[in-house]
Amino acid sequence: MSGNRTLIFASSNPNKISEINALIGKSYNVIGLADIGLLEEIPEPGSTIKENSFLKAQYVVEYLKKQGKNLPVFADDSGLEVEALNNEPGVYSARYAGIPKDDKANNAKLLKALQNITKRNARFVTVITLIIDGDVHYFEGEVQGTISYEGRGSNGFGYDPLFIPQGYRSTFAELSAEIKNSISHRGKAIQKLIAFLNSE
Ligand code: IMP
Repeated sequence: MSGNRTLIFASSNPNKISEINALIGKSYNVIGLADIGLLEEIPEPGSTIKENSFLKAQYVVEYLKKQGKNLPVFADDSGLEVEALNNEPGVYSARYAGIPKDDKANNAKLLKALQNITKRNARFVTVITLIIDGDVHYFEGEVQGTISYEGRGSNGFGYDPLFIPQGYRSTFAELSAEIKNSISHRGKAIQKLIAFLNSE
């Protein structure tokens, strides 16, 4: 691919959109759902992170098709898998403690579920689905780590105060966004997406 190409990111989170624009280089212009007038929440009925990532991208492709447009679309879906909990909360990470999504309640529920459990291995995983002209490409990123015994730090979001990445003593919430992005599941998946686009 060459020139300035528009890519649709199936996200309405302005932070995620500007983060990827900063990383992706001048050949691409990444725009979000608000920019294409898609304001409703995209359903995530899948039973795996990969499936939901695909369903989100596919939903946006269909939405654009109805407007007679064919543009490349990508979507990401992430979750936390805790070994001692049979990889829960996994696909249910956002709504682990119920709906509406509540990060504090999710963290409290996770700490309770791991009470008295010393095997605290976990990983974050991201799957990005890119759909170009009907072709589907997947990019996965993961980061291994452990779940702390109490929340620490105030950066980031979600389970960041509880996740200690391998090789560090700090939780994600105690690390700068720059360090987190360089080792995180999402950061790694985005790097793979960018490498693919730049090789096209
Ligand atoms: P999403 O697919 O990026 O929206 O992630 C789904 C859910 O997984 C979030 O609502 C969080 O609970 C959790 N999660 C995903 N990525 C992270 C992260 O980098 N830090 C903390 N929690 C995360």
